Amino acid sequence: MNLTIETNKCLQAYNSLALAATASHFCCVSNYQQLEKALAFAKSNNLSVMPLGAGSNLVLASDVEGLVVYVDLLGVMVTEETDIPEGHVDVTFCAGEDWHEMVLYSLKRGWYGLENLSLIPGNMGAAAIQNIGAYGVELSDLLVSLKAVDLESGELFTLTNHECQFSYRDSVFKQSLKDKCLITEVTLRLSTSPVINLAYPALKGYFLDRQEPLTATMVSEAVCSIRRSKLPDPKELANVGSFFKNPVIPATKFIELQGKHLDDGADIPGYEQDGGAVKVPAGWLVEHCQFKGVRHGSAGVHKHQALVLVNYNDCPASNNAKDILDLAATIQKKVFADFGIDLEIEPRVYGFI
Ligand SMILES: Cc1cc2nc3c(=O)[nH]c(=O)nc-3n(C[C@H](O)[C@H](O)[C@H](O)COP(=O)(O)OP(=O)(O)OC[C@H]3O[C@@H](n4cnc5c(N)ncnc54)[C@H](O)[C@@H]3O)c2cc1C
Repeated sequence: MNLTIETNKCLQAYNSLALAATASHFCCVSNYQQLEKALAFAKSNNLSVMPLGAGSNLVLASDVEGLVVYVDLLGVMVTEETDIPEGHVDVTFCAGEDWHEMVLYSLKRGWYGLENLSLIPGNMGAAAIQNIGAYGVELSDLLVSLKAVDLESGELFTLTNHECQFSYRDSVFKQSLKDKCLITEVTLRLSTSPVINLAYPALKGYFLDRQEPLTATMVSEAVCSIRRSKLPDPKELANVGSFFKNPVIPATKFIELQGKHLDDGADIPGYEQDGGAVKVPAGWLVEHCQFKGVRHGSAGVHKHQALVLVNYNDCPASNNAKDILDLAATIQKKVFADFGIDLEIEPRVYGFI
């Protein structure tokens, strides 16, 4: 039950961009009592609290002056409620559980719905922060509710799906509850019969020549295979996945842009959204602005995936975080100059350069 507080802790092994920022204070909590103690310590020492999961959606631009709380709450429970629709099960996952491990765990138990979200790095708690999504499914399609602790009062509270205010890579935790709470568990409603969702074109294409009936496990394996072929593994090349959100622009602006770029042969792709907006793939914009494979100090745009910025960590004299953010700013400027579109950074940036 004891809580160990470390000081001047290097966070390089705790973030997938491998940035060597230091936390003035650091602890790991694996139960509620430790969490309570950690919050009390932060309060009595006037420290801000930063919850940390697997560090796969962070840019640590400078050292953290505060208490970094590594969330290691583990456990999975089937919820016994009476109002669960037939053919479904509500499962509560503690925040420290690894997302992909839980996708595989669910599949093994015959709980379906998470397959399309296979192989997304990170932990269960952080999944709600940016409403993780991939291959046509978002967390918000499955989340019933979650529990969180108020960082100021230490009180535990519950939020329903609606109260989380989910939208594309966004939630109340990036808005009014930003830096105000630590998520301790999430409850998902999963199906007890397979749900095959091939709405996403790349996934549908993967199975085009297959004749045999598809299983949820086959879909999960296909998603893993497509992801491995497209995205660098952070263990081999430090990155945070997509560095920019896909911008959503009004349909009128999209049509105007298509007309404007007809002459330079740019066939701008766009996907219609509810309410007449169009989502433009950020990777296409970055690639079209000739950034694929470009290097800046230790940072670079991945050779095969323009949406992924990587930390090569090979310029000892460089400030790696500054290199990454400078490169991102150069890309943002050029995309705005060429297309009039603002690219928003997807991972959470801590500190300033
Ligand atoms: C190779 C790669 C591919 C990726 N692909 C996708 C993808 O397809 N779709 C997608 O949506 N994302 C993707 N991501 C981004 C990332 O995996 C997700 O955002 C993931 O949910 C982050 O989880 P984490 O535990 O690593 O969070 P962290 O990086 O540790 O934290 C992210 C933010 O959440 C906060 N936080 C963490 N845990 C808690 C908690 N328990 N309570 C409150 N706040 C908390 C942190 O303070 C921080 O602000 C990818 C990342 C990589 C590296």
